[in-house]
Amino acid sequence: MATDSWVNETLYSDWGQRFLVKRELARVQSPFQDIMVFESTSHGRVMLLDGVVQITEADEFVYQEMLTHVPLLAHGDAKRVLIIGAGDGGVLRRVLEHRNVEKAVMVEIDGEVIRLAKEFLPGVAGDAWNDPRAEVIVGDGIDYVRKAAPASFDVVIVDSTDPIGVGEVLFTDEFYENAARLLSDHGLIVNQCGVPAMQAEELRDTSLRRKQFFADVWAFVAAVPTYVGGFMTLGWSAKDPATRHVTVEQVRERAEHAGIIGKTRYWTPEIQVGAFHLPPYISEHLPKA
Ligand code: SAM
Repeated sequence: MATDSWVNETLYSDWGQRFLVKRELARVQSPFQDIMVFESTSHGRVMLLDGVVQITEADEFVYQEMLTHVPLLAHGDAKRVLIIGAGDGGVLRRVLEHRNVEKAVMVEIDGEVIRLAKEFLPGVAGDAWNDPRAEVIVGDGIDYVRKAAPASFDVVIVDSTDPIGVGEVLFTDEFYENAARLLSDHGLIVNQCGVPAMQAEELRDTSLRRKQFFADVWAFVAAVPTYVGGFMTLGWSAKDPATRHVTVEQVRERAEHAGIIGKTRYWTPEIQVGAFHLPPYISEHLPKA
């Protein structure tokens, strides 16, 4: 239906962004959340979950590229990747761009998010849904990690909603303990930790929890225009502290080998290395080494 109305994001009760809606495409109440997809005049198609922006066609590449390429290229030989959440398929697509990846398992709790993303945001995942290396499971991420075999993945990528509602279990000690167990010796996990200018306690809390199970806990940043408030932090937890300390040259060489160079619009080897150098207003929320 055509509209000329505005949609207000409801993430914060006292501040936020709004979009002029060209056309509403879908509005569904799933068993887990309220899902809305609309065509904006400014950012292409937009998906909201419970009133919070998840993805816009205009800037999804920033978040998806950083959440995927940074951990895979720091690891250097990731063959088995577990993705939790990420129902739009954008992370799955980026993971499968790495030609050395042999298997990508994606566990998304809400089948309606996947269905609507396939119908209204088909460019986000591209052909990833049909890649023979992809296994897409509709289920709760916490159940999956509880049952996963020890050392069965090299990298875990958590692309979740914020720690309220169905996403809350993905920020618990139980989740991180199981993630450490299912990761191989040089394994690592990345997870979205919110925008620290507005959600500092989210970064502080999840970092302290992860520190109990991983030798190296830190964060890296990406500036996603529609995750308002400045830098977004992506949490980093690795079993081996050396994994984080790669050089620009090492990252470039690995990216060439993986087939990533020339395919990105935000990620570069220099940005990967620079993203771990944090302004004090962010690093003050991270556990000391
Ligand atoms: N890539 C976007 C972003 O940058 O924010 C989208 C985030 S993605 C759509 C977040 C997904 O996490 C949602 O589809 C939500 O259903 C899923 N999710 C939340 N809790 C979950 C859980 N316990 N297990 C698996 N998936 C979960």
